[in-house]
Amino acid sequence: MELRIDMTDEVEVVEKKAKLVNPEFVEEVIKAGAVSVNLCWQCGTCTASCPSGLHTAFRVRKLIRRVQLGFMDEVLPADDMWMCTTCYTCHERCPRDVKIPEIIFTLRNMAVKMGYMAETHKKAATLLVKTGHTIPLDDKAKALRKKVGLIETPLTTLSNSEALEEVQKILRHTGFDKIVGA
Ligand code: SF4
Ligand code: SF4
Repeated sequence: MELRIDMTDEVEVVEKKAKLVNPEFVEEVIKAGAVSVNLCWQCGTCTASCPSGLHTAFRVRKLIRRVQLGFMDEVLPADDMWMCTTCYTCHERCPRDVKIPEIIFTLRNMAVKMGYMAETHKKAATLLVKTGHTIPLDDKAKALRKKVGLIETPLTTLSNSEALEEVQKILRHTGFDKIVGA
């Protein structure tokens, strides 16, 4: 008796995935500055070392692999890469000297140009435009500052309107305010 295995579903999945692949993507990423992306041999040391991956679904090895394979439409709109805190642990430990944070910066720049940015980063960037800081100074922080002998409000853009105007001028000049929609 002849044994036939129906592979229709598997073939459909492979065909669907193949349609998602943009073979130019990895070259575009390299041209944009992430020159080491193809050095990765997928050992997983980065994922095992990544503090963000401990607390989120972010897997840096997978991100690099998706870039290598050309899954642009999965990589750029996703929140994954915005979970990297740029601590550089992966970079220090990578046996192939893949400059992972640089790759992530490059991908973020590409994503922003296409209109994607994680909401949390957008909020922080908007605060930067409004106050010159990415973290707000709330009453709790003020009380803590006072407790350790500091003035409640630091002598930064928070208390210096001229300095704030200068910062805002730079952000306007570079178009940063428009990019983040502030
Ligand atoms: S540690 Fe380096 S070589 Fe290993 S998976 Fe991560 S990027 Fe690739
Ligand atoms: S730089 Fe980013 S990806 Fe690398 S270990 Fe730190 S948080 Fe993870």
